Amino acid sequence: MPPLKILFVSPEVEPFVKVGGLADMVGSLPKALAALGHDVRIILPAYGSLRLDSHWHARPDPLGVDVGTSAHWARTWETVLPGTKVPVYALEHEGLFGRPEVYAGPWGNHPDNDLRFAFLCRGALNLCLQIDWIPDVVHAHDWTTGLLPLLLNTTLRHTPLGRTASVFTIHNLEHQGYCDRRVLDFAHIPPGEFRPDSTESGGAVNMLKAGLYHATKLTTVSPTYAEEIKTPAGGWGLDSVLRFRAADLIGILNGIDPAAWNPAMDKNLPRPYDQRSVTPGKAAAKLSLQRRLGLDEDAHIALFGIVSRFASQKGLDLVAEAMPHILDRMHVQFALLGAGDPGLEQTFRWAAEAFPGRVGVHVGYDNSLSHLIQAGSDFFLMPSRAEPCGLTQMYAMRYGTPPLVRSTGGLIDTVDQYVEGATPAVGTGFRFQDATAPALYNTVGWACATYYDRPAELHAMRLRGMDRDFSWNLSAKRYEELYGWAVAARRSQT
Ligand code: ADP
Repeated sequence: MPPLKILFVSPEVEPFVKVGGLADMVGSLPKALAALGHDVRIILPAYGSLRLDSHWHARPDPLGVDVGTSAHWARTWETVLPGTKVPVYALEHEGLFGRPEVYAGPWGNHPDNDLRFAFLCRGALNLCLQIDWIPDVVHAHDWTTGLLPLLLNTTLRHTPLGRTASVFTIHNLEHQGYCDRRVLDFAHIPPGEFRPDSTESGGAVNMLKAGLYHATKLTTVSPTYAEEIKTPAGGWGLDSVLRFRAADLIGILNGIDPAAWNPAMDKNLPRPYDQRSVTPGKAAAKLSLQRRLGLDEDAHIALFGIVSRFASQKGLDLVAEAMPHILDRMHVQFALLGAGDPGLEQTFRWAAEAFPGRVGVHVGYDNSLSHLIQAGSDFFLMPSRAEPCGLTQMYAMRYGTPPLVRSTGGLIDTVDQYVEGATPAVGTGFRFQDATAPALYNTVGWACATYYDRPAELHAMRLRGMDRDFSWNLSAKRYEELYGWAVAARRSQT
């Protein structure tokens, strides 16, 4: 395939700003695409929290952004994705992005998120025109960039960007960016686009829906999730739109960044390890984790780790409900890292007080601790109600920590069910079906029994997980193929 010009526009990019797995994907897929020979570039907002250190330099010309009724200007900063030549541009605008947070401040979602992200979309396209770099494909991500495909189809149709194809990836259908129709005027989108087969939902603008209707091709982050979102149960009100666009929608499993998540090279671990040294390596990490979270130092207790946003989507209320019963009847410890729902944060703090030495909790965001939990736990708990792809279960397997997951979305596509005593031996983790505390309880019991009664099978399971290839090798090629289809489809329309 001839090299393509591919522009990623995203509100989060690892290692610059991260809220969840979207950042990991946008920080790693471009590396894999660049390695395949494509000219990939990334644009994100310069939030107040972005550290514009000496690796960044300001571009000399201010960027005019065609939004609102008066002139809007941005300062553009430029750097590269660390360890690559992939250019990264950050748009600075004090009024819209000067705040430190991405989506929400202490009082909840920023009320001007519609305008902030409309500015990102239009600013990204204006920057392409300014630097005279016309992408073959714009790859947009989630509701914040839903207006991009719409802008390409309408306002910018008769500019040099009119032939640019768009690919829109759904990382999480739950968040749709409902907002007032003022955003259409602000972004200079024709008012006629306020209709149900474009942007309108229930009298408001739905930014995600705009992306779903207007992108040349759609993807989501796992094959199973691609099926689930076409059903009323998993479609969050947009299943009919997704069925309408089914021919253009595919699920491509996210890869992980094997350099950032490699137990053999991980500076966060006391003793990095590979398959041959997994037992001593994990034992050292377990001890260090127990010390760090104030757990009893015990090499022979089954330790369950969690690294997650505290949200009901992640099924952590099931953990909260089952935890006292598990601790009552099973010889286990829990190590939790996360933040989000204040009720869950408080519940887990109480659990740590009620079960000292057996429950360790860190409320907050801590990348280094997240690596230590992946390595030091015996099992990784992820009972998600819905999971578009999920990355942490893949990190866990790479670190020799069998995940215990609910059978949903990307968890089905990545975690193979362990079958006790099977020949040949199979499975990289434990899956359960019902989103209930008893189902979770039983599966924790199953994992515990494996830990205490079948250590050789557990060891073999660890090695099978570590052997799995979760890199971008396969998925980047699938995206490359999809971009080719998108470009061909777009050119045939213009
Ligand atoms: P989601 O995007 O739904 O939050 P994923 O599993 O796809 O879930 O990605 C979550 C990412 O965020 C992973 O890289 C995980 O390690 C990281 N993460 C989540 N919570 C924390 C936390 N409290 N501290 C550090 N990293 C976290």
